[in-house]
Amino acid sequence: MLGSTGSIGTQTLQIAEEFPEQFRVVALTAGSNLNVLVEQIQKHNPEVVAIADKALIPELKDRLRALSTDQSINVSPEILGGPEGLNTAASWDHADLVVTGIVGCAGLLPTLSAIRAGKDLALANKETLIAAGPVVLPELKRSGSRLLPADSEHSAIFQCLQGTPWAENARLSTGIPNPGLRRIQLTASGGAFRDWSAEEMETATIEKATSHPNWSMGQKITVDSATLMNKGLEVIEAHYLFGVDYEHIEIIIHPQSIIHSMVELADSSVLAQLGWPDMKLPILYCMSWPSRLETPWRRLKLTEIGQISFREPENSKYPCMGLAYAAGRTGGTMPAVLNAANEEAVAQFLKKKIHFLDIPVVIEKVCENHKKDLTQTPNLDEVLAVDSWARNAVIEQVKIGMRRIP
Ligand code: NAD
Ligand code: MG
Repeated sequence: MLGSTGSIGTQTLQIAEEFPEQFRVVALTAGSNLNVLVEQIQKHNPEVVAIADKALIPELKDRLRALSTDQSINVSPEILGGPEGLNTAASWDHADLVVTGIVGCAGLLPTLSAIRAGKDLALANKETLIAAGPVVLPELKRSGSRLLPADSEHSAIFQCLQGTPWAENARLSTGIPNPGLRRIQLTASGGAFRDWSAEEMETATIEKATSHPNWSMGQKITVDSATLMNKGLEVIEAHYLFGVDYEHIEIIIHPQSIIHSMVELADSSVLAQLGWPDMKLPILYCMSWPSRLETPWRRLKLTEIGQISFREPENSKYPCMGLAYAAGRTGGTMPAVLNAANEEAVAQFLKKKIHFLDIPVVIEKVCENHKKDLTQTPNLDEVLAVDSWARNAVIEQVKIGMRRIP
């Protein structure tokens, strides 16, 4: 489990706890949250634990020693740290499936380590594929690792494609075009500001932007949902996963988040996957695929909901959507720049350095400035170089000064 202490990580570990016969947790990695990590180690007794912040290794070891002396709880995982530690845990021998729940492009190197070790992946960490699609896809082909989508929309598409006669191509979702798949419709809740006018969004605050109406998620993806950058990133993710061109990937606003996405097939049939907005289902599907496990989870009852509705997203209200389509169409290093600029812009917003409405403004400038340096088929070093360039470019833009923060 990469990113065990986050929203995806904790939900994945809940599933492992619910199905002890099926799953055993052998490796955990986390950024810096020792309290949650120690609890998880106690519960799952993994073989290895890696913490991104190396300086925390001694404290982690002390806490585990204290557990054994104070409470006679004996857990003795191998403790690693830093980037090498994360890579070792990601490629751990006894792991069959690696769930990628790190947020941001920080997940790229451990994900590549997992792929190179031939592990199957449950991909939640979309930023990795978006930034490094041209690097990740060939690595998958070389190693034979299977990429199972944990993002709810892509899981929905993946589930809908299981029943098509072209399932052989579609079921492993590694960018191979499926001849029967005509169109993808990604559903979007519309995020925190879906009912706000453009004028009202002038008063957007951190508190508002980080409270999602339907999903409980980490802070960064919640802000991405409010700007609809999350949906834009998911368009690029769908392109890389399912090999569909950008003309045939659409976004529709569906405020109830019951339909998790739809596919249109060659004969004009449209298939959808439905469920409550709960990430445990798409995560479980990656873990149990191609089987389905019996769960005691709340059953969907459409009469409880009464009505579901759909509308077109307004391009002018959500400029991030258009920026993502443009970056996807440009391809090469542009999605990496878009992603890194977005990560830094969101971080600057959360530090109260820029206004919510300046997030797309900064990203657009940085993408524009990258055009002259675009590389169409980048290698890993080139992806990492543009990622760090774009982050610095955002910081430079912010220094120039933006609109006033409410
Ligand atoms: P989160 O912020 O709740 O958790 C992130 C995890 O990554 C934590 O364990 C943290 O310690 C770790 N981490 C952060 N920075 C790190 C670094 N530099 N090195 C190593 N580890 C680091 O985020 P989340 O909401 O769980 O999202 C994780 C990923 O899953 C994101 O890519 C997000 O887009 C995707 N995703 C999340 C949801 C959701 O419901 N939360 C849904 C779909 C997709
Ligand atoms: Mg999603």
